[in-house]
Amino acid sequence: MNSKETSIVKVAIDVPIDDFFDYQCEESVSLGQAVLVPFGSRKVMGIVVEVDSSTGLEAHQIKKIIRVDNDILFNEELFKLFKFVSSYYHYPIGQTIHIAVPSNLKKIEKVFNKKSYIYEATDLLNKSAIDQISARKKNLIEIAKVIFKEKQTDEALKTISVNWKKYVKELVDLNFVIEREYQKTNIIQKTTALKLNQEQSEIYEKILGAQGFEAFLIHGITGSGKTEVYMHLIEQYVKNNGQVLILVPEINLTPQLEDRFTSRFSSYLVISLHSQLTQKKRLENWKLAKNGTAQIIIGTRLSVFTPFKNLRAIIMDEEQDLSFKQHDKLRYHARDVAMMRAKLLNIPFIAGSATPSIEIWHRSVNENKLLLHKLSKRAVKDATLPKINLIKDETNIENEGISEYLKSAIKHHLDLRQQILIFINRRGYAPVLFCSSCGWYASCSRCSSKLVVHRSKQHLRCHHCDYQRGIDSSCKVCGNVDLMSLGSGTQKIEERIRKLFPKAQVRRVDRDTIKTKAAIDALYDDMHDKKIDILVGTQMLSKGHDFPNLSLVVVLDSDNALYSSDFRASERLFSQLVQVAGRAGRGSIPGEVVIQTNFPEHPLYQSIKNQDYVSFASEEINLRKDLNFPPFCFQAVLRAESKNKKMVEDFINEAYSIASQSGMKDVDVFHPVQPIIDRVKGFERYQIYFHSSSRQLLNQFLRYVKENILKEKDLNKVKWFIDVDPVDF
Ligand code: ADP
Ligand code: ZN
Ligand code: ZN
Repeated sequence: MNSKETSIVKVAIDVPIDDFFDYQCEESVSLGQAVLVPFGSRKVMGIVVEVDSSTGLEAHQIKKIIRVDNDILFNEELFKLFKFVSSYYHYPIGQTIHIAVPSNLKKIEKVFNKKSYIYEATDLLNKSAIDQISARKKNLIEIAKVIFKEKQTDEALKTISVNWKKYVKELVDLNFVIEREYQKTNIIQKTTALKLNQEQSEIYEKILGAQGFEAFLIHGITGSGKTEVYMHLIEQYVKNNGQVLILVPEINLTPQLEDRFTSRFSSYLVISLHSQLTQKKRLENWKLAKNGTAQIIIGTRLSVFTPFKNLRAIIMDEEQDLSFKQHDKLRYHARDVAMMRAKLLNIPFIAGSATPSIEIWHRSVNENKLLLHKLSKRAVKDATLPKINLIKDETNIENEGISEYLKSAIKHHLDLRQQILIFINRRGYAPVLFCSSCGWYASCSRCSSKLVVHRSKQHLRCHHCDYQRGIDSSCKVCGNVDLMSLGSGTQKIEERIRKLFPKAQVRRVDRDTIKTKAAIDALYDDMHDKKIDILVGTQMLSKGHDFPNLSLVVVLDSDNALYSSDFRASERLFSQLVQVAGRAGRGSIPGEVVIQTNFPEHPLYQSIKNQDYVSFASEEINLRKDLNFPPFCFQAVLRAESKNKKMVEDFINEAYSIASQSGMKDVDVFHPVQPIIDRVKGFERYQIYFHSSSRQLLNQFLRYVKENILKEKDLNKVKWFIDVDPVDF
């Protein structure tokens, strides 16, 4: 571009307007470059999304870009992904792009003080190539030989020749060797690859043979060696500077997995990207992924938008996990975005789970959109799936949630010097403070929910808005001073277990006790060192952990799922209990699982007892088909909230009438309803569900509804949004 000439560029700005903005620019800029622009009375950071574009505006209406930054934040491929995501989830394009950009990009700091390098042979380096090197160049030949034999670090090469750098450069220039940066760690001991068993190697070969984009689903029971398969694949993908993204559920899985990958791939840079990192660290890692230095990237949902230099595959572990769906702003599902990204990049997508989501199972088994593979046995020799017993809940006020049967089972495993996990998916002491003479219970003044009793801090807490206050000493209605803490949470069970087994080491694990990676690490160490006999915890414990000495898992109070109005409740309970049961018997000790329930004969518990995902899923799919629920229809919901009840009611009625008048017969518009928790933090909530058998028509319909609501200024005084493929009620 001629330097005097100005061009028009389009810029994405972080504002709720579904369009780009035109600016004049006198420098040369590229797609994805960060710029500083005037916007209203502010100066904001924008991202260039189109260069040399035309404009409908008059020259004097177009402002100038203030500054062009060096950073190019993403390329054409990611830009296509952003456009898809913005239109699929009905979220403004500028905001979609800005969500994917680390927030403190401006403060660029050095990543590592001292860089370490590793050198690896390319396919061109072989015996005859080495033979052709002039025999006089002894050191060069020596270095070529050792690298050919095995990849070498800079430190190792130093010991061969003081001029090693010169020789290595020669080899790199000849394309015999590639140079890679890696992160030196000394804490981790190296582990080597295991020999894959028959089932594993068939899957490995199949996936490796994929031509461009192909989607795979590995359905493998807990402990069947899915991670080992991922690692064998990664080994191949990272060759020649390739990168792999491994998507994992929120935080609790990341640290352990990261260690496992770092110790296996010690000569590659393995990084993680998740919300527990500091902003600075996250930005550092983001850059390492972007420039290709980091080759193995373990990340939670947001990392699906990371720029990569040479991505070869996307792996998603625990595909069914709810944390892959974002619940505010851009309400995307990382699985669907990842699949689209893999398609755009023409690379394989690999999902793995012991209990895949019904949606993905359907797409795989009935629609052939993902190629299904099974791992049916535990990988460790002699390890078997635990036996699951359903026992009738015969607890009462006296025994406070621990029946005689459970007591003796726990005692038995303690006597064997084995570890026990007690799973109850509710933190706090008791879910409700109740007056038995008038029926009053303590409730949150801001939400339509009961307050949970927390014994350790002696207060009541709302688990929806975190409101806290002291425990009432008497009933607010009748003055009764004998209030009861009904039901059990982790704290009450912990207290009870300590009383029953005073000699046992008991540890409670929930969001109130575990807040950092260090705390999780310490917990692992203590479990492995057998400093803990009994763990009492929530679903924080249900995934990914490998405790070889754990032989008894007890499940308490899981019946709520049976009467939930959420059509996915059974699926979730199945998945959760199979996961948590999978913690037992990972080593060579056989495991046992006891589920205490009021309904041992319930079909859902029977299918959990049999641990037969395939028949559970096919029954569930039949049921959904009869009811015409997802995956047999596509679903979206319009949600609205306001502190002013009348305003949100007016809004929802108006939105309903707009939606009903769309004229699109193929979309069902349901009547407005309030969600189960109809008030949160003082906001009254309403919602309207939409169903359609066509994804495309639903999308068109949502666009129509959105545009028509946006037109009505008065309506937009309440907060509202569209959630596509919602996962919560
Ligand atoms: P998953 O991811 O399916 O839960 P993992 O890959 O974590 O399973 O494997 C479970 C256990 O089995 C681990 O201790 C792992 O080291 C071991 N394992 C996996 N594959 C093999 C194999 N081919 N041979 C021996 N042990 C294996
Ligand atoms: Zn009372
Ligand atoms: Zn509340």
